[in-house]
Amino acid sequence: MKEILQKYEPVIGLEIHAQMKTKTKAFCRCSTEFNAPSNSNVCPVCLGHPGVLPVLNEELVNFILKMGLATNCKIKERSIFARKNYFYPDLSKGYQITQFETPICYGGYLDIELKDDTKRKIGITRIHMEEDAGKSIHDFSDDESLIDFNRCGVPLIEIVSEPDIRTIEEATTYLNKVKQLLVYLEINDGNMEEGSLRCDANISIRKKGEEKFGTRTEIKNLNSFRNVADALEAEFNRQYEVIESGDKVYYTTMTYDATLKKTSPLRSKEEAHDYRYFPEPDLVYVEVNENKLESIKNELPELPEEKKLRFKKDYLLPDYDINILVQDKELSNFYEQVTSNLATKNEKTFKTSSNIILSEVLRVLNDEKIDLKNLKLKPVNISELIGFVSRNEINNNTAKDVFNEMFTTGKNASEIIKEKNLIQVSDDNLIIEIINKIILENKSEADRYKSGESKLKGVLVGKIMKESKGKANPQKVNELLDKLIEN
Ligand SMILES: [Zn+2]
Repeated sequence: MKEILQKYEPVIGLEIHAQMKTKTKAFCRCSTEFNAPSNSNVCPVCLGHPGVLPVLNEELVNFILKMGLATNCKIKERSIFARKNYFYPDLSKGYQITQFETPICYGGYLDIELKDDTKRKIGITRIHMEEDAGKSIHDFSDDESLIDFNRCGVPLIEIVSEPDIRTIEEATTYLNKVKQLLVYLEINDGNMEEGSLRCDANISIRKKGEEKFGTRTEIKNLNSFRNVADALEAEFNRQYEVIESGDKVYYTTMTYDATLKKTSPLRSKEEAHDYRYFPEPDLVYVEVNENKLESIKNELPELPEEKKLRFKKDYLLPDYDINILVQDKELSNFYEQVTSNLATKNEKTFKTSSNIILSEVLRVLNDEKIDLKNLKLKPVNISELIGFVSRNEINNNTAKDVFNEMFTTGKNASEIIKEKNLIQVSDDNLIIEIINKIILENKSEADRYKSGESKLKGVLVGKIMKESKGKANPQKVNELLDKLIEN
């Protein structure tokens, strides 16, 4: 791929479908609950019986306006819905209601930041509302398919980017940013595996330095970040081979096979759908006036970029910590709950809180494959532990051990520290006693350290800490060891 990239560059655009967390469907009052029994959340409207009238769900409009504002979009004062006509067994209406010519949000952008700290602006062509279709289930038996209409009419928004993306890293970074915003706005759960966030990718390739776009193909239904990255790479390589062999790329809808790591045509241009879009006659215009926009603006929660600035100002954390904490809304909330319960609030305790969360909490979540909300340890338990560190009663290493003990036993930090007698020794006389013992037992190391072999300090400190069962105050050990060696 590297050699090809010197010669060709990909031109990528993403179409992201996000299922909205509204309580009811887009045009009827059926529930959108995910795990309901098959075909229980249906009514004549979402099944498309003749003569029924859809009514637009206002919550859906509020949600899409939030996303439009968060992605710097312009908002259409008046937009309409259209019917997209096609036959499919899980679409009993024979058409899907969507916004075609006039999307409600348009002309926005998102700034993304890449690993090497470069920034890129990715244009957003449009964000529009539409409804989902039902679900066909083919894996029950070999000769029968089942249909669940619960998903019919569940509201989606489709976020269409400009073809501004030039690398696979840019594509996944942009997708991640969109997901992060949807989750921060609390309008989508960001779950690609369960299908509430799905992605189609458009890609063409062109010789480096060329202005004109090549012919694009569209890869449908990518359901994980890994698949988006792998499918784009596979399709880039395929188009490269087609062009290098003297052939042409044709506009095709592709599907990606994650096992074979290959893209293949789903349908060609000849079979392309003509959806015969026309304005939906059963729905009125969607009108958004200044008052409406103003009230949505006031409802917007703090978004990631603002949160990063606030974390820098309030907690004086390094960028590295801030980026990881803010990336995940739940995690940043957890951090703030820990810090709000601290008895002493200062730069040091804020940083210790971040250290414990980024190293210990994340490790435990990862090892146990659980979410923060399933973590038995509560923020207040961690604040208590950090109190011991900030009062110099235990050191950082002991804190890690206590954390693990808290996690496995469910006990409080104070109980564990008391039971195991872990309060660190800061008494100079006790520490001096231990240091003298270690110097005596390790005479040659001590002499070599004294004569300038500075790396031996670590060895000696290690032995002293071990002798104290990890309880000596490491800072004191360091100071006192030097003092005693001098003499
Ligand atoms: Zn319904």
